[in-house]
Order: sequence, then C-alpha cells, then structure tokens
Amino acid sequence: MNFKSKLPNISTTIFTEMSALAKTHNALNLSQGFPDYPSSQKLNNLVSTAMDNGYNQYAPMAGNLELRLAITKKYNLLYKSTYHPDKEITITAGATQAIFTIISAFIHKNDEVIIFKPAYDCYEPAVQINGGITIAVQLSAPNYQVDWAEVASKISSKTRVIIINTPHNPSGTIWSKGDMLQLQKLTANTDIIVLSDEVYEHVVFDNQEHQSVCLYPDLKQRSFITASFGKIFHNTGWKIGYCCAPEALMAEFRKVHQFNVFSVHHPSQKGIADYMKDAATFLELHNFFQRKRDLFLNLISESRFKFQPAQGTYFQVLDYSEITDEYDVDFAKRLTAEFKIASIPLSVFNTNNHDDKVLRFCFAKTDETLVRAAEILNMI
Ligand code: PMP
Ligand code: GLN
Repeated sequence: MNFKSKLPNISTTIFTEMSALAKTHNALNLSQGFPDYPSSQKLNNLVSTAMDNGYNQYAPMAGNLELRLAITKKYNLLYKSTYHPDKEITITAGATQAIFTIISAFIHKNDEVIIFKPAYDCYEPAVQINGGITIAVQLSAPNYQVDWAEVASKISSKTRVIIINTPHNPSGTIWSKGDMLQLQKLTANTDIIVLSDEVYEHVVFDNQEHQSVCLYPDLKQRSFITASFGKIFHNTGWKIGYCCAPEALMAEFRKVHQFNVFSVHHPSQKGIADYMKDAATFLELHNFFQRKRDLFLNLISESRFKFQPAQGTYFQVLDYSEITDEYDVDFAKRLTAEFKIASIPLSVFNTNNHDDKVLRFCFAKTDETLVRAAEILNMI
C-alpha cells in the first residue's frame, strides 16, 4: 500500500531498542528508565480494593475526583500553589499522553516550539505530527547550562510553546531559580505557552529545591505542568500521570483529551488517591534515590568513567572519553553485547546526533543490580 508517512525520519525509540538488545544479550539493563524492584504492596492492594469496591467503569473525563483533590493538596503543601481540582487538573495516560495532547491542542501548522537538547524523545515527534516546527537550543556536557541569550534569539512571533524539563532526563541536571527567572522574563507579555515536564519533581538531590513553574506567578499563568505517577510510585507500566494548568488552558486541553483517551484506568486512580493520603509516599522519594545514586557512584569511583553526580532524576550520566573515542551509540551497543550492561547513548537526543561521549545509566535498581553493574563498569 502507498501512504505518505507523517513521521518519515522516526524509527523505534532508543529505549525500546536498548531494552531489546539487553534481552538479546542477557545483559544488565540500566538503559530504559524503570525500576527492577516491585511497586509498593500497599499501593497494589489499594488498587485491587478499588476494583473490589466497584471502581471499574469510566472515571470522569478529567479523572477521579479524589485523585485530583490529592494533587491539589500536594501543590498546596509543596509550593503553596493552588490548582483547582475541577478546572485545572486532568489525569492522563502517563505524562506522554499529557504532552502529546497539549501539543495537539495548541500547535497549528508552522507554529514554532522551542526545545532544549538533549531532549526527551517524545517532544519532537509530537510537534512534527501536528505540523509544528521545533527550534532546538543545544546544551552541552557536562553542565548542560542554558545560554539565555541564545534562547532569546530563537524566540520569534511564531513561537507558540517552550518545552522545559527540570530535573532533566537524560542529563540528570536541574534548573536554578536564575534559569526560571530568565524564562519568566523572556516570556513576559507574550502569548507563549510553557510546557513544563516535571515528571522527576520529587527526585532532587543534595538539599536543592525543585523549581516548579507554579512557584513563579507569571510562568504559572502560561504553563502546563506534566507529571507521571509511574516515576513517583515505581510503576511505570501503569501509565497514569496528570497535568495542571490555569482554567482557560485546561479547558482547551480537555477538548482534545476527551477524544484522545476520554479517561484513564479508574481503579489505579482511586488506589493512588488513597495511597497519597500519606505524604511520605512522595516526600521521601529523593532520599530513596539519593542513597542509590551515592551507592552507585561510590562503587564506580575508581573506574575509568568520569562523572558529575546527578542533581536529580534517577539517571547518572557517565563520560567514557578516557576509555574510547567510539561513537556513543556504537559504544553502548558494544557494552551491551560484550560486557553485558545496557545504557542509553545521549547523542540520539541531540541536534545532528552531537556526541559528547556520554552514556546514561538508570539507578532505579536494587542494590544488588547496582553492585553487579559497578563490577562490570570497573572492568571496562
Ligand atoms: N517526560 C520525561 C522527562 C520522562 O523521563 C518520561 C518517562 N518516564 C516521560 C515524560 C513519560 O512519562 P510516562 O511514562 O508517565 O508517560
Ligand atoms: N522515560 C523512560 C526513560 O527515559 C523511557 C520511557 C519509554 O521507554 N518510552 O528511559
């Protein structure tokens, strides 16, 4: 059959590719970001209780109300910021659907979307499929600092959306208050929408604070926040997330959302709402992951990989330039096949596959997996 592809240059994602390669070679899989330990038994039980108690039919289009109330409470607690549960919060099928739906709702043909590279892989195809054009700002290892003068030079009358992501996947860096103020200044008095992908909001290390757009009033009124329970509660397979935005933006979002998924898995929403009654379930997350990051980095401190400790997320970037000058995709594949450890090469997220000779390793793993991973990395 003949058809014209809407995404002619897109192939299977690197996450799928590397996870499949890990399986083929029976390698330790630190590539795709997911935990190798179970999700909480208490949470699992709450979801099955929800099923037993009849939460088996369509949830309201915006999502289960108790869950939206739990989210309102969380933003009040953490940021003293209010999102109205009826009008400003929608539960989605993971952050990915929220991101796709936001872009579908607001991007017209030839609208421009500014993204920062390395960029999480779902942003660019979503823009393309909706007829938009991505304008990239390339950040460089090891600090991935933003040159705000460059951003300013790339904003035009066609700029419709700026996508930001702090804590940042894949680099593990976070944005400072200064970055947020720069963004606020550059977007002031414009109609630019900010899509703030905050899926790792609870995973910020070393006593630093997460910079949510909701802390900055002028940013808040133009922003969507996207979030993922898969990342918070160690169950990426459930694909439940949410987004928050001021009422007018959210009303537009829901016009698309209702015909995209309408609503998402109801018992999981009810179970998560009950689980979140104990705020420790998300407030303690950074300690849990910081201990894992430190364990992993201590174990590989004598290896030939160089690193700056991740400031957030559950990913650690390792620089292998002292080991080889191979292209990162080739090196990642060779490590998987020969050394039985899989990672993610960063160049695939960069403009023109720019190669900083760094690989991303996921440390959302049992201590035992991290010890085995370190043994391998120390041999390379
Ligand atoms: N954004 C970023 C930065 C991510 O790392 C991920 C992957 N978890 C997502 C969005 C998508 O989240 P979800 O699995 O909830 O769709
Ligand atoms: N967010 C996950 C990661 O960064 C991957 C999710 C996916 O495979 N699409 O590894």
